[in-house]
Amino acid sequence: MLEIQGLSKSYGNNVAVDNVNFTVPDGQIGILLGPNGAGKSTIIKSIAGLLRYKGSIRIQGLPARTIDAKRVFAYVPEIPSMFDALTVREHIEYIRMAYSSDITDEEVEEILREFEMDDKQDKLGNELSKGMMQKVSICCALAVKPQVILLDEPMVGLDPAAIKKLKEVVVDLKSRGTTVLISTHMLEMVENLWDVMFVMEKGHIIGSYTKEDAEGRDLDDLFFAMTGGEKE
Ligand code: ATP
Repeated sequence: MLEIQGLSKSYGNNVAVDNVNFTVPDGQIGILLGPNGAGKSTIIKSIAGLLRYKGSIRIQGLPARTIDAKRVFAYVPEIPSMFDALTVREHIEYIRMAYSSDITDEEVEEILREFEMDDKQDKLGNELSKGMMQKVSICCALAVKPQVILLDEPMVGLDPAAIKKLKEVVVDLKSRGTTVLISTHMLEMVENLWDVMFVMEKGHIIGSYTKEDAEGRDLDDLFFAMTGGEKE
């Protein structure tokens, strides 16, 4: 479970996130939506521990800043960042050791194969394309075997095969009880994935729906009804 309570963050006088509350229940896929500047990245970075904030963030019931919470949590940032001098495989091994993950060699091979990176294991970080970096970033997050995973615009830069695979992986994570939060603008990419959606505007959650509440309505219909925008 991922619980956000009373989360606020200001940059100087600019209140980017104002007393936000939401929960992604155990084993569900949450989608965080909102127009540019709504505060999504600020929330994502707060959950990932990259910003100071006011309020409470709990991962599997544990305060997000604790080592025990970090152990069960993985984050795929919007912009991947690699170690120039580590190979693809060494990135995975590094994460595996840092998290004391019990992922097996076979599982690592499987993840790399799924994202068509198995034949690129010896490439260095600075030899990768942007899409390849994104794939390595996703593989590293999966190597944690997380109980909660946060994906920030994970489909940007991926080719169609990798997008398809990522969707399958997200469904697979859910089936194993992992809690997932995805922040994205690509509504059509997450249409068939979500269990609960939250829409932000100007630092607030202005509405949310569970899949049941939505009664079959499209994600973009729900989004534009809340934000008052036009459906494209
Ligand atoms: P986008 O969809 O464009 O990525 P977002 O919903 O992720 O937008 P944020 O990046 O969280 O929005 O920005 C929320 C507000 O905080 C905006 O007003 C933005 O200008 C401001 N902001 C974000 N980062 C900083 C920063 N490092 N310094 C100052 N202001 C910031």
